[in-house]
Amino acid sequence: MLDVEKIRAEYPILGRTVEDKPLVYLDTAATSQTPRCVVEAIDEMYYCHKANVHRGVHTISQEATDLVELTREKVRDFIHAASTEEIIFTRGTTESINLVASSLGDMLYNGDEIILTVMEHHSNIVPWQLIQRRKRIKLCVVPINDQGELNLEAYEDLFGDNTRFVALCHVSNVLGTVNPVKEMIDIAHRHGVPVLIDGAQAAPHNAIDVQELGCDFYAFSSHKMYGPVGVGVLYGKRHWLNTMAPYQGGGEMIGQVSFERTTFAPLPFKFEAGTPDYVGIAALGAAIDYIQRLGLENIAAHEHQLLEAATTGLMSIEGMRIFGNTPDKGAVVSFLVGNHNSYDMGVLLDKLGFAVRTGHHCAQPLMARYNVDGMVRASFGVYNTLDEVHRFVEAVRRVAALLG
Ligand code: PMP
Repeated sequence: MLDVEKIRAEYPILGRTVEDKPLVYLDTAATSQTPRCVVEAIDEMYYCHKANVHRGVHTISQEATDLVELTREKVRDFIHAASTEEIIFTRGTTESINLVASSLGDMLYNGDEIILTVMEHHSNIVPWQLIQRRKRIKLCVVPINDQGELNLEAYEDLFGDNTRFVALCHVSNVLGTVNPVKEMIDIAHRHGVPVLIDGAQAAPHNAIDVQELGCDFYAFSSHKMYGPVGVGVLYGKRHWLNTMAPYQGGGEMIGQVSFERTTFAPLPFKFEAGTPDYVGIAALGAAIDYIQRLGLENIAAHEHQLLEAATTGLMSIEGMRIFGNTPDKGAVVSFLVGNHNSYDMGVLLDKLGFAVRTGHHCAQPLMARYNVDGMVRASFGVYNTLDEVHRFVEAVRRVAALLG
């Protein structure tokens, strides 16, 4: 098992106070805190290896390049991709999805259909709507039941002659539902349709094997997995990445440039225009090492324990409504108490030192599905303790009573 007190010592922020109360950070699904080893990797890049990558012959440029390429290999291994050519560095999940939507949009025709689910984050809805400015494509939406499970029969019924793409989240950032992505990818492939998985909420908690899943694309963000802000990953099957047009043009993504004709660099560089965040990428490598040192299974088991305790505790509060009640949920619990506004609850919880997310969680269609404006969400990371969860439950009870 994990030594949580030892882990916490690696996060100076967890020792600070908010409103003179010890901070209890329950917003890891929005962004995780960063352990010392990752911050040290950033320092080390700035202090010792700061030079532009893939360009110079000079030593420090080569060192920076090697660190970026080492991280690419670590990411490949982390998600078990076949080749580093299939690992593209982006700014985050959002940019990874925009890249696919933008490039794929060129290959779509009026009347084509894309399947999404009602539980998608806005970053897996709006990029597809942007295509609608160029092409008359239709978005088809998989519904859920009240527990927060996707209706797989309805999903399969959505496939038709015009279905061209499926994009769905691995784990819902609101409901915590872990979707049966393997089964859904298999169904899509039986219809000859490629699939993108938004893994923003899965990569920090679950072992990912893109080859076993068979997904065509997989997107995730570094800042949710103990890594630095500003870096993300897009995995894409080589065949698709070779077929797709570049997303952005600029330095480093070219073979040869003339005003008459420009050729593009081989994978993965074709999709990495301009100077990448090489400092952040190197630090993502440190975050992956950190996660692997702790062990994803240990992290998941610890978070599961926190989630169970939070769910049981919260359910004892009168008027409690928890959204998302599937077995084996991810480490988030979203709720409302009576008719209290989520924002009011969040402000009062903050006064007691508890950092939670409130509002629509960038999932307004899902809020509409449950007929609410917003929810309060507590989400857990490897550094949270059972004691914090118990204190949180009592704080929610107190805030609900205060609000009457
Ligand atoms: N998808 C999901 C499921 C998310 O939870 C998030 C982050 N809240 C995103 C996409 C977007 O991630 P980012 O802001 O890091 O691009």
